Amino acid sequence: MNYRHAFHAGNFADVFKHAILTRILVYLMRKDAPLAYIDTHAGIASYDLQADEAQRTGEWRGGVGRILNAERPAQMEALLDPWLRIVGEAGADGELLAYPGSPALAAALLRPQDRMLLCELHGADFRALQKAVRRDRRIKAVHIDGYTALKAWVPPKEKRGLVLVDPPFEDREEFTRLSDTVAIAWRKWPGGCYALWYPMKDTAQCDLLFEALKAGGVRNVLRAELAVAAPQTSQKLAATGMAIINPPYVLLEELATLGPWLCAQLAQGAGSSWRLETAIEE
Ligand code: SAM
Repeated sequence: MNYRHAFHAGNFADVFKHAILTRILVYLMRKDAPLAYIDTHAGIASYDLQADEAQRTGEWRGGVGRILNAERPAQMEALLDPWLRIVGEAGADGELLAYPGSPALAAALLRPQDRMLLCELHGADFRALQKAVRRDRRIKAVHIDGYTALKAWVPPKEKRGLVLVDPPFEDREEFTRLSDTVAIAWRKWPGGCYALWYPMKDTAQCDLLFEALKAGGVRNVLRAELAVAAPQTSQKLAATGMAIINPPYVLLEELATLGPWLCAQLAQGAGSSWRLETAIEE
């Protein structure tokens, strides 16, 4: 396991993922009934943007840094507010000291009646995560493979909630593992909302993800994709996507508003694009 999210925290892909994550949680909290949030690849709660890893790549400046500096129309401000309020403001010098990971975003939004289950397999990251959340009685962090846990933990007793699957994609088999595991989880809990993050380096591979989900019986899936530049020949990530199973009914409209604006803010040159469609019908 070589992947360390500390090099990438707050980059354009995190902006995309976390804007969607917070919109889904805000929707689910419209009802008082408790919900479960399962984060299969949680990372740590807070990333130090002054640390060597973040300083070496500077990726956050092209992500959250741009959004904080942008003129935000009222509509975008309203949609991004739940995420940005947790991120906080950059200092007068434009520096942001830290960026919250998905567990911190969810912890800040969720209510006393809600529950969070977090998986993290990297030893040092797990210890950092556990230290950050151990006093919060709503949260259980486990040093476990996220795919194994997902199959065991659904359906949660609350019978409503969100699963975020956000793997590092170091392994060539990750797309297959993702679709296979999620299809199993979906059969156990077809009513859950699932947000699956993926990097877009090869469009055909992303098409296959949706085909595999469909073949596994999964229905009602939204496909959102953001490219900040034309496809790269290098290993550098320039595009990202999310498959959202059982999306809140408002999400399509919200992302149709937000997506093109995010794309314009985060573009790194020619070839940026935004795509949003229902990939698998109900
Ligand atoms: N979800 C986080 C966020 O949005 O802030 C970022 C997570 S990062 C992309 C992926 C994380 O998964 C890394 O911290 C990595 O150590 C962890 N990881 C890798 N393989 C795993 C596995 N099989 N099960 C659980 N965690 C894993």
